[in-house]
Amino acid sequence: MSHSEPSTRRRILVVEDEPVINQAVCDRLVAEGYDVVPAHDGPGGVAAFAEHAPDLVVLDVMLPGYDGHEVCRRIQAERPVPVLMLTARDDEADLLVGLAVGADDYLTKPFGMRELVARIAALLRRVDRAAELAGQETRRTVELGDLRLDPGARRVWVRGEEARLTPTEFDLLLVLAADPGAVVTRDRLMAEVWGWPGASATRTLDSHVKGLRAKVGADLVRTAHGVGYALETGTRG
Ligand code: CA
Repeated sequence: MSHSEPSTRRRILVVEDEPVINQAVCDRLVAEGYDVVPAHDGPGGVAAFAEHAPDLVVLDVMLPGYDGHEVCRRIQAERPVPVLMLTARDDEADLLVGLAVGADDYLTKPFGMRELVARIAALLRRVDRAAELAGQETRRTVELGDLRLDPGARRVWVRGEEARLTPTEFDLLLVLAADPGAVVTRDRLMAEVWGWPGASATRTLDSHVKGLRAKVGADLVRTAHGVGYALETGTRG
């Protein structure tokens, strides 16, 4: 009870070149019970990822060596892992590039430690849920018009072609696919995909929807303005 099992502790890689922020993040995560590996530039982050096999990566975008997007691209090519990006500004272009290389969530600096910890916990819960699903023996493939979904394997095909979604995009699609044609509210999407309804995460949701549309076809995800999104699967009438 007084000692946690080393094998069950989650390991988090923190790639951030600003020493004060790196230290503050690491200290807080250690206090939360995580194993923490710090890195201070792009190449160092990639090397630490290979060496320490973290369960999650906190990744600054602006880094010496090469930037966070390149780090994300390289580590995701090696092994899929949840990535929380830290951005210096609320920049749409940054968000879209990050999504394209496999980031799952964003925090804009300056951020609160409490929010960082909440986002990390939510990401790890999603990974656990996904692992649980993948471990279930009764896998069921779902056909929805032009879409075929395999929730267990977390794979999706659009008109027979596999679409390679990020974990976040897949979770979004799953929530929408639970009730095709019905509008799912923004709050419910935030709660089900990210684990909490956060007003500040509005742009995150929209950015991930953008990424999802780019991969499955814009016509499949309908916007209900000011309300939410709906999946239009191509089955009409
Ligand atoms: Ca930086």
